[in-house]
Amino acid sequence: MAYTVPKLKDFSPAALDKAVEKLLAAIGDESDAVRNDADKKAFRDRWLARKDGILTQVNDLWLKPAPKEAKREVGQRVNKLKAEVEAKVEAALAQKPSAAAESAIDISLPGIRRPIGAEHPIIRTQNDIVGVFKNLGYSVAEGPVIETDYYNFEALNFPPNHPARDTQDTLFLANQESKSRREQLLLRTHTSPVQIRTMEKMKPPIRIVIPGKVHRNDPPDASHSPMFHQIEGLAVDTNITFGDLKGTLDHAMKALFGSDVKTSFRPSFFPFTEPSADVQISCIFCGGKGYRDGGRCPNCKASGWIELLGCGMVDPNVYGFVNYDAKKVSGFAFGMGVERIAILKYGVDDIQLFFQGDVRFLEQFG
Ligand SMILES: [Zn+2]
Repeated sequence: MAYTVPKLKDFSPAALDKAVEKLLAAIGDESDAVRNDADKKAFRDRWLARKDGILTQVNDLWLKPAPKEAKREVGQRVNKLKAEVEAKVEAALAQKPSAAAESAIDISLPGIRRPIGAEHPIIRTQNDIVGVFKNLGYSVAEGPVIETDYYNFEALNFPPNHPARDTQDTLFLANQESKSRREQLLLRTHTSPVQIRTMEKMKPPIRIVIPGKVHRNDPPDASHSPMFHQIEGLAVDTNITFGDLKGTLDHAMKALFGSDVKTSFRPSFFPFTEPSADVQISCIFCGGKGYRDGGRCPNCKASGWIELLGCGMVDPNVYGFVNYDAKKVSGFAFGMGVERIAILKYGVDDIQLFFQGDVRFLEQFG
C-alpha cells in the first residue's frame, strides 16, 4: 500500500514522533525504488509538488488543525521533516542508475539510434573512383603532399621556366632560396609526382591509381579552391597503346556515370604525355542532347558534352628520368579532379560547400 498522510487525532509528542517515523520509512522505501528519469520526476512530484505533494498535505493535515498548545511541537517536527524529505528527494534525483536498474532494461525494446556521421562526399567519390580501377587490377599509390620542384615539375618534363608551369600557380614554401631549384619545396600541384616516385621504385608492369590532396594558388570561389583532390592513373608495360587508354577510361566513365555515357577524346597538351587528350563525357543531365526541359542544357552549355579529365601516352622523356627503356616500354597516364566529379554526381553548385563543414550539407550524404 502506498503511503498516505494520515489525519491526526492525537497531537501528543509520542504520537507525533510515530507519525514522523512512518513517513520517513515510507520515503526511504520509495527513494530506493527510483530507477530512471521517469521515476525521479514522479518521486519528486509526489513528495514536493506545491499543490498536492505529501509535504503540502503534512502542512494541511498536521500543522493547520493542530490545537494551539501543540502548534509548537508540531511546527518543529514539520520543519525538520521538510528538510529531511527535501534532502532525500535531492539525493534520489542525483543518483546514477544502479546496476540493478541497468539489468532491468528491457532488451527487447529497439535500441537508441546514435548518430554515426557520414562519409564525406569527396572521400566517397574518391573511393568510388579508386574502386573502379581496383576492379581493373590497379593498386593504390600515395606520396607526400609537400614535394620538391624536381618531382612536381622537372621529372615530369616541365623544364625550369617552361610556360606549362604557369598553368599551375604554385605555392612554394618560404625560405627556400638557398637550395637548388630542384630541391626547393612546394605544395604539390598534382598527384603526378607519385608516378615518378613509383617508377623509381618499381619496374614495369605498373598499374596504379594515385588519390590525394593537391594545392594551387587559386582564390576560393564557387568553382575553385586552393586545396582540392585528384586521382591520377598510370599504366606502363610493353605494347600499351592509345586504344588501351581509350578503352580503360571509357569503361571507368561508364562505371561511374552509367553505361549510357559516351566518351570523346580531343587533342590537348600536357608536358608529361605525348600525345595528350582531354576527355569529355556525354552530358549526364541532358543525355548528350544539349537541351532539356524545353531549353538549353545549362550543365553542358548546350554542347551535349562535359569536359572531365586529361590523359595521354607517357612522354618517352619521362622514362629517361626513371631509367626505363623508352624503346621497350609504353604506357598511359590520366588525371581527374575528385571535386569536379562529385559536383556532377551529386548536383552540388559550389565547391566551397565541400570544405565548410556545415553539417546541414554533409548530413545529406548519410
Ligand atoms: Zn547537357
